[in-house]
Amino acid sequence: MESLVALIALYCVVFGNGPWWSAVAAGRSLGDPATWLFMGCCFVMLVALHFFVLALPATRWTAKAWLTLIVIGTSFAVYWMRTYAVMLDPSMLRNVVSTDKREASELLTAALAVNVVVWAVVPVAFIWWVRLDERPLLRAAGFKVAALTIALVVAVASVMPVSRDFTSLMRNQRELRYLVTPGNYLYSLGRNVMTDAKAVNAPKVVVGADAQRVAAVVSAKPKVFVFVVGETARAANFSLFGYSRETTPELPTLEILPFSNVKACGTSTEVSLPCMFSPFGRADYDEDQIRGSEGLLQVLARAGVVVKWTDNQSGCKGVCDGPGIEYRKPDKAYAPDLCDSDECLDEVLVRTLKQDLDAASGDTVIVLHQMGNHGPAYFRRYPPAFRRFTPDCATAELRNCSAEEVVNAYDNAILYTDHVLADIIRLLSAQSQRVDTAFLYVSDHGESLGESGLYLHGLPYAIAPELQTHVPMIVWMSPGFAATSHVDVACLRGRTRAAYSHDNLFHSLLGILDVTTTVYKPERDLFAPCRTGGT
Ligand SMILES: [Zn+2]
Repeated sequence: MESLVALIALYCVVFGNGPWWSAVAAGRSLGDPATWLFMGCCFVMLVALHFFVLALPATRWTAKAWLTLIVIGTSFAVYWMRTYAVMLDPSMLRNVVSTDKREASELLTAALAVNVVVWAVVPVAFIWWVRLDERPLLRAAGFKVAALTIALVVAVASVMPVSRDFTSLMRNQRELRYLVTPGNYLYSLGRNVMTDAKAVNAPKVVVGADAQRVAAVVSAKPKVFVFVVGETARAANFSLFGYSRETTPELPTLEILPFSNVKACGTSTEVSLPCMFSPFGRADYDEDQIRGSEGLLQVLARAGVVVKWTDNQSGCKGVCDGPGIEYRKPDKAYAPDLCDSDECLDEVLVRTLKQDLDAASGDTVIVLHQMGNHGPAYFRRYPPAFRRFTPDCATAELRNCSAEEVVNAYDNAILYTDHVLADIIRLLSAQSQRVDTAFLYVSDHGESLGESGLYLHGLPYAIAPELQTHVPMIVWMSPGFAATSHVDVACLRGRTRAAYSHDNLFHSLLGILDVTTTVYKPERDLFAPCRTGGT
């Protein structure tokens, strides 16, 4: 039976993936042996993975029906992808499945019927023609576990020789995975069933319903806390934290507190961002709970703090939803000198901040979501003046650059972040007559730049290299803010080498802004040990 499954997997990969193969081969020379190595490895991996998926539910009794379904499903998918140039991602599949009768009849054309017959008839006949050998139940189970394990091992091993190439391809063109048939529609179907079951728009669980400000701390000047959420910046490439190259010349000239031992919650924005604002954090990590509950900003807003989120990236992943939280995304119309039609340089955040500071009348938290070092197109993150390390990789296809060029481009982007952060602090400092200001910067996760053959980020946390989880964190306070909040800055400076993580953020911000609630845990508040008397 396993051999039959393997044959069908092979058939699907060979005949069902024309669009995928041409997308992968695009821009590669067929005369280059590296192309053949890459294609070969992809081929082995696809067959192994599909064998795994197809073999999983197949038993002696179900295999024939299951594989017939797969072959027919794949013939539909191949036809639709070729004719309509669609990708079978979850929303596309949702469309196909939920089309009404009229639309469906338009989709079910004679050409489709011919295609299905031509494509599926031979393999289906073959499936029903072969005789499956009958093994005793226990032996069959053992055999299957062994086969599944081997398939996984082969799949992983086959990507190893081309991992750099492969990860950058899949990152640059995420949608490519929806060309892999039948993996695409199986995955999409599964995803749709899951999200339906979870009822997507369920209201978030309220956190800190009892949140309020401590009345005694009302001071003459408004307090403004600026929280900069960095992107893909790893601590290892900040000269501030010991990197041999001078990538952060400006920050050390300011009275900053560099925290050198900070761990990210996850290795991707999707995981880290919700986690950074949640009361749960990595310590008791549960993705559904984190996404299903309110976080820091909702609690602050409920306590009466003005909350603003300015985004220079792909949105706030739900952490800025809710009443009392202002969201904006500057664009080309706002800053034609810093933006093109797709995106803006991070200096746009300094400009919006200036406006927000001028308008600040009550205590305010402003979150600035950076583009930072978002890869793989690092070279698009900095203006020409910051192209200091050269030659820099000037393409998102990292495989076309040397390791040195990739690092140069990445370091230029850090250099630019250093400038943007220093500009923000200088701006806050200049406003200290009118507002008491504080600043915290922390990156969402790190990045691999070719170390151990790894690129980009997103590895499972347990096996992720430290480069992907060790993030830079920087705190700065105006003397006025430190005084009215009773912070002993020298004490904080003495703790900058202590171990912290994203888990500290929720509690530290509530603490420093004097919000009381039962969800606040003083032991996770990094400011708490250095605050005296006052309240
Ligand atoms: Zn990220």
